Amino acid sequence: MRRLRNVKIVATLGPASSSYSMIRALYEAGADVFRLNMSHGEHEDIQKRHIAIREVEKDVGRPIGILADLQGPKLRVGTFANGSEELEEGQSFRLDLDEAPGDAMRAQLPHREIFEALEKGSSLLVNDGKIRLKVKEHGPDFANCMVMVGGTISDRKGVNVPDVVLPLAALSEKDKRDLEFVCELGVEWLGLSFVQRPEDVHEARELTKGRAALMSKIEKPSAVREFESILEASDAIMVARGDLGVELPVQNLPPIQKRLVRKCRNAAKPVIVATQMLESMVESPIPTRAEVSDVAAAIYEGADAVMLSAESAVGSYPVEAVSTMNNVALEVESDPTYRTVVDATRGGPKQSVADGIVSAAREIAETANIKVICCYSQSGTTALLVARERPHVPIIAMTSQIGTARRLCLSWGLHCVKTPEVDRFKSAVVNSARTSIKEGFAEPQDQLVVTAGVPFGKPGTTNILRVAPCDENLILPADPE
Ligand code: PEP
Repeated sequence: MRRLRNVKIVATLGPASSSYSMIRALYEAGADVFRLNMSHGEHEDIQKRHIAIREVEKDVGRPIGILADLQGPKLRVGTFANGSEELEEGQSFRLDLDEAPGDAMRAQLPHREIFEALEKGSSLLVNDGKIRLKVKEHGPDFANCMVMVGGTISDRKGVNVPDVVLPLAALSEKDKRDLEFVCELGVEWLGLSFVQRPEDVHEARELTKGRAALMSKIEKPSAVREFESILEASDAIMVARGDLGVELPVQNLPPIQKRLVRKCRNAAKPVIVATQMLESMVESPIPTRAEVSDVAAAIYEGADAVMLSAESAVGSYPVEAVSTMNNVALEVESDPTYRTVVDATRGGPKQSVADGIVSAAREIAETANIKVICCYSQSGTTALLVARERPHVPIIAMTSQIGTARRLCLSWGLHCVKTPEVDRFKSAVVNSARTSIKEGFAEPQDQLVVTAGVPFGKPGTTNILRVAPCDENLILPADPE
């Protein structure tokens, strides 16, 4: 099966989408990567979904990527004697470590690290930011606050602390158990919540030991501030607009999203735009016009992927939501404005041989009526660099590593194919010709561009480009020594 769009679709699985038949229907409607949300479901549920995805993959004969999204530490208030209380604007409210049930004047906040990091004037947000408290006075085990925006506070509601970097690791004990579990199952991507600094990614890297690539979710203001170093430490980024929109004013999100997407493309690292893209489709078979525009905007910006959360995990119309994204993508990508924008936002000249090769591959392909660019890639680097160019012609990412093929499913424009291992570029060209014809990208009389890094298997060595006839019985001269 060949997709007719470049942007990828990530669908979160949940109770509404756990069966083989539903996962297959989502794949056929356009989902390229499935997300397992570790915040919900037992390991047994996650394992069943994982097995079902791999079965679909086998039956459709195409690689499918899996993203396991770790929950991250959850900060919550304690319980209340009456279950809930109404907080009025202007009143005082105390948070402390006392385990006694809360009332209208105080509640437990069982996180010493928060009290240690607070400053006078810091904001504390409760219940997805609906209640806003300002710290007036604080000590190592308490904070006396003024209620700036009131509302109902109830048992174990979530707390956000947007203004300070918390001395908390991004991985809780639960996250570490989940990480080990999904790495053993075999997933391509690990989503890291609560990333505040590059060290959080380094810690996950040590635990993952190369078993999965790391995607940092940008959901805290400190992560936006430290974005360059977090991007450098990560393999991909998710613009996690849900939590980010709690911690920052919502009007800040669109420019941040634009900036992050552009930086990721420049760095040749995939970026997902996530959360509430088609939220009304949780209950309705038809999206709002604004939601359609939101999905379209992310595609015009050049994001690698757009994501469904509740829409596909717990909604009543998961397949319709994926089809909607697919249809929006087809329409946007056939709009001449899309091309103009994507071409205009291509980064300037880069420094390396690899940059020169992929840029030449695009230019040759676009000027010489080439039907497809084939990238031979063990680690995926060459394919990611070609995808960064956002060429007008399709890209086939060819790799002998199934893990690489699945991982690259997330990246803009890459049609991923697992091929036999080759030890010389000549065989790579022959394989590319065969694959291009077999997968419906070219006819025998066409020409293709093949790029690779030789010697094979050494990441970052993209150094070769050949224009070849798309003849599967091709007899090529020997590789230059
Ligand atoms: C988000 O906050 O936008 C997000 C994707 O994370 P989660 O679903 O884990 O809240």
